[in-house]
Amino acid sequence: MTHAVPTELLADRLRRAGEVAAEQGEDVLLITPGTDLRYLIDHSGESHERLTCLVLPAAGHRAPPALVVPRLEAPGFAGVPLEELGIEVLTWTDGEDPYLLVSDLAGGPTRMAVADGMPAHHVFGLRDAFPEVRQSLAGPVVRELRMRKDAAEVAELRTAGAAIDRVHARMAEILKPGRTEAQVGADIGAAIVAEGHTEAAFVIVGSGPNGASPHHDVSDRVIEPGDVVVIDIGGPLASGYNSDCTRTYAVGGEPPKSVREVYAVLQEAQERSVQAVRPGVTAQSVDEAARGPITEAGFGPQFVHRTGHGIGLDVHEEPYIVGGSTLTLKPGMAFSVEPGIYLDGEWGARIEDIVVVTETGVERLNNGPRDLVVL
Ligand code: ZN
Ligand code: ZN
Ligand code: ZN
Repeated sequence: MTHAVPTELLADRLRRAGEVAAEQGEDVLLITPGTDLRYLIDHSGESHERLTCLVLPAAGHRAPPALVVPRLEAPGFAGVPLEELGIEVLTWTDGEDPYLLVSDLAGGPTRMAVADGMPAHHVFGLRDAFPEVRQSLAGPVVRELRMRKDAAEVAELRTAGAAIDRVHARMAEILKPGRTEAQVGADIGAAIVAEGHTEAAFVIVGSGPNGASPHHDVSDRVIEPGDVVVIDIGGPLASGYNSDCTRTYAVGGEPPKSVREVYAVLQEAQERSVQAVRPGVTAQSVDEAARGPITEAGFGPQFVHRTGHGIGLDVHEEPYIVGGSTLTLKPGMAFSVEPGIYLDGEWGARIEDIVVVTETGVERLNNGPRDLVVL
């Protein structure tokens, strides 16, 4: 894998993670393989039954950070600048108890925060090794950093957005009546890779009534002339940063007037929601900006999900753009704005752009046409 994140930047992330941990009253962060680990040391590792874990003391604790890793997995970290980052490496071999190794390193904590995605058997193993220590989630610490993208991260998301826009731009050659959703999905998957992603992480082709299921996958349904089709696609670049973009198409000619009318409501809602994004407003206000016009038009109950989700090394991460969230938007936050209207048994529509909060407003990272595209 490529190691593109400058060492100084990783050092800064590790330092700030320790500071936020201290602010939140944690003594130590325990980060197992996954995107949090990738964010902190530019290597995601792999989660196996054997424990690999970054032990990161909160600021003010004297112990240096350490990586506990199975002897046989250690070569996988060869490309990581562990020495420059001041991370001590402690290997263990089968038959040893890695949780006791962690407890030796952690220096008598009273509170430890474990990675949100840590496998339960490791969480329980740590609990047995530290019976008196209160466990909490590291998510609230790490998200304080990960939510606000730096310029290089925004540049990666911009590149990803342009790449997935190019896939949507090829839809006229791929999405045709007489083909199955699965056939269309296979071609889209190949296009996602051809346009610069390392893989197609997800391909939703929701034709006709299947479009009313927001997380439909693909099926053997044959796309018919007159179908409305929801295409929601994305994947990661080599850097790990993801794309995610939805467009809705009308296949085989002009759709009925009723489709045009509902779609116009959705397009207005999506536009208003994007325009509501700027520093200082709450996440719920962006959700309300999308929900308002849809509810006014009588389709509130048919908009069955939140307006958006953060995106970065994960396709879905903080901040969530959801009713009730008083989180204040700040420059560098990147998330989707993707209202939808789903008419059960008939058809559905969704428009999704990734946006990033700038110093003064908003930048869209998807820029293909948002009209109902007739193919
Ligand atoms: Zn989704
Ligand atoms: Zn999507
Ligand atoms: Zn999305």
